[in-house]
Amino acid sequence: MYQILIFCAHFNSVTKYFCFMSNLDSLDKIVSLAKARGFIFQSSEIYGGLSAVYDYGPLGVELKRNIRNAWWKEMTQRHSNIVGVDAAIFMHPRVWEASGHVGGFNDPMIDDKQSKKRYRADMLIEQYILKLEKDGKTEKATELQELLDTSGTRKSLTEDLYDIIIENEIKAPDSGAFDWTEVRQFNLMFKTQFGATSSEEDGVYLRPETAQGIFVNYKNVLDTSRVAVPFGIAQTGKAFRNEVVARQFVFRMREFEQMEMQFFVEPGTDAEAYNAWKEKRIGWHQRIGIRKENLRFADHPQDKLAHYALAAVDVQYQFPIGWQEVEGIHNRSDFDLTQHQEFSGKKLDYFDQKANKRYVPYVIETSIGLDRCTLMVLCDAYREEEVNGEKRTVLKMHPELAPVQVGVFPLIKKPELQELARKIEADLIEDYSVQYDEAGSIGKRYRRLDEAGTPFCITVDFDGLEDNTVTIRYRDDMSQERISVDKVADAIKDGMKGWSPS
Ligand code: ATP
Repeated sequence: MYQILIFCAHFNSVTKYFCFMSNLDSLDKIVSLAKARGFIFQSSEIYGGLSAVYDYGPLGVELKRNIRNAWWKEMTQRHSNIVGVDAAIFMHPRVWEASGHVGGFNDPMIDDKQSKKRYRADMLIEQYILKLEKDGKTEKATELQELLDTSGTRKSLTEDLYDIIIENEIKAPDSGAFDWTEVRQFNLMFKTQFGATSSEEDGVYLRPETAQGIFVNYKNVLDTSRVAVPFGIAQTGKAFRNEVVARQFVFRMREFEQMEMQFFVEPGTDAEAYNAWKEKRIGWHQRIGIRKENLRFADHPQDKLAHYALAAVDVQYQFPIGWQEVEGIHNRSDFDLTQHQEFSGKKLDYFDQKANKRYVPYVIETSIGLDRCTLMVLCDAYREEEVNGEKRTVLKMHPELAPVQVGVFPLIKKPELQELARKIEADLIEDYSVQYDEAGSIGKRYRRLDEAGTPFCITVDFDGLEDNTVTIRYRDDMSQERISVDKVADAIKDGMKGWSPS
């Protein structure tokens, strides 16, 4: 979708020019920019890559860290009743039995015998239903949707799904073949061995979510911190899922990072807390600079809730691949604590001194993927503009998230300019991430940092040496201002605080 914007840039001599702005229409542009500028690389790329595993480069690691810090600050610093933990990735195998992951963290998969490709059986049927709808065969689509929704009630889930695929002659999307295996449950947890011997008992899982590390530490936190219900525990860390349909860049990975917070409340107050967290979380997405119109809630229908949930909603973002979940907010009831109580034999209830009563708290969970959030930030920031006949690619992200917040340039490589530029760099470096750059034309340096999302660039020139001034150039509208050297830090601070997405 193209819009024509006409705006006025405050160049030294004020110029008017046309600027064509395009919204992001494909994830490929982000993938290319991420690789070219050192945000995100394919893992083990020199060996041909490892599917659905990614590494973060110099810009990516800073962006990701800034998002993680913004989340942590929001959760812990802004809420005196939320504390953090950092639980290990390996956990006792019984944890995953108690949580339901050993028995229930499965996807029903079916293989195309000809291409050897594996598909999620329910998604295959959903895609087929979508096609029927597109072709105007609504009656048939509704009939199949009903069959899909009631899968597991006729025979087993796998058999019911298999029957739908066979009876409707659903073909493999890639090969076009109709040559299927049975439908089988495929567990998404990675298993590995603990210790030197590899007996079955030694098998441990790489955690598929960080939440359980919070639940098993709930009593430790309660006993050692000055918290009382209602209170929350926050954690960020790696999670691992052997995703079968792992495509779409860092949207769906096999190794990813989660930022989760479990909020423990008195039963009966859970619905109110759930609604409050919904509002807080969508507010945070907007505060980190995501445009309001690209965010929405999607409630999970009551009959499709996960085994632990009383209520669930996704915060969705409008990615180039459509509206997709970025964060899940769930009312997990007392499911997890009750399960761990039963499996561990340890009491995990709470004594409310004021009310003189005991109960197992209910839990409201907020769970966001850091990598998916990073992708959202990149997508929302990405702009292509035409400036005076040339294309400019720019990442208009929140200045506090930008991997490089300030660029400092001497206009040319002359010692007196370099000296002042280095001094400005040294002054700013304690508070901001700064990049000193003296290579290439000033225009090229601006463009390089536009692509990195750098909101402010400071240029030192000869005029400035006379009157102790520099030029500050703002990324979003490319306007420039001449300010005195001792006002640089204030100008950046004001620019950070006063920023809003355009
Ligand atoms: P989806 O339906 O997209 O698979 P989910 O409902 O399984 O997600 P949750 O288990 O609720 O996801 O996990 C919480 C968050 O963790 C998600 O909103 C998402 O941001 C992130 N996440 C989950 N799986 C992945 C993955 N494979 N790769 C990257 N991020 C993920």
